[in-house]
Amino acid sequence: MLVDSHCHLDFPDLIADEDAMLANMAEKGVTHALCVSVKLETLAGVIGLAERHANLFASVGVHPDNAEVEEPDEARLLELAAHPKVIAIGETGLDYYWHKDAPEWQRERFRTHIRAARRCNKPLIIHTRDSAADTLRLMKEEGADQPGGVMHCFTESREVAEQALDLGFYISFSGIVSFKNAEALRDVARFVPLDRLLVETDAPYLAPMPFRGKTNQPAYVRHVAEAVANARGANLPTIAEATTNNFFRLFKDARPS
Ligand SMILES: [Zn+2]
Ligand SMILES: [Zn+2]
Repeated sequence: MLVDSHCHLDFPDLIADEDAMLANMAEKGVTHALCVSVKLETLAGVIGLAERHANLFASVGVHPDNAEVEEPDEARLLELAAHPKVIAIGETGLDYYWHKDAPEWQRERFRTHIRAARRCNKPLIIHTRDSAADTLRLMKEEGADQPGGVMHCFTESREVAEQALDLGFYISFSGIVSFKNAEALRDVARFVPLDRLLVETDAPYLAPMPFRGKTNQPAYVRHVAEAVANARGANLPTIAEATTNNFFRLFKDARPS
């Protein structure tokens, strides 16, 4: 039993063959997946997946890369998060890789998401790229430790992982952990306590080895879990069981079906 803690199944590549995608999941023992929102304009597609399938869940949030989109305020996020299949707020965070000018609106948007998560007590899904110091600073300033959450698609250093863990956060690894040149990241995967680990695909992006460069899908989270297991000298069932238990502990509104 495996759970894909972060994917974008509403994106055209995947939704085009929804039934096949779900059949592949079932065949590989991937029992549940969390469909993550990136903007309000496409939220209906994300929620629709969670409504059609008992084993899919949804989040509500606006990705830090999305500049020209509807800007949510706290009240709007709370209203949308009240849907029974919405189990998290995000993805949110900071991304100075795609926005090298480190715009203030990203930080404001991130603060809004943290405040909403605190008010509805749903965990945060945090994206951070080339912005770890500011991400951690805002998490501390806004009290992100209260709802807690996950640092998704983690690619930062052990020191950053340590600070996120100190705030009670979970660390989620994607297919990047399986890439040849990712030795430093595998060191981080070794370091994270077993009860704070999650695995994800971030599908349709970042397919793990041996599918690197192809369209990713939740079924492939098994290869991510295998890469994490190899890095830790553990076996797949141990990682599968721990990451599944961790998922349902963190995302407490997710009812397994
Ligand atoms: Zn992300
Ligand atoms: Zn994502």
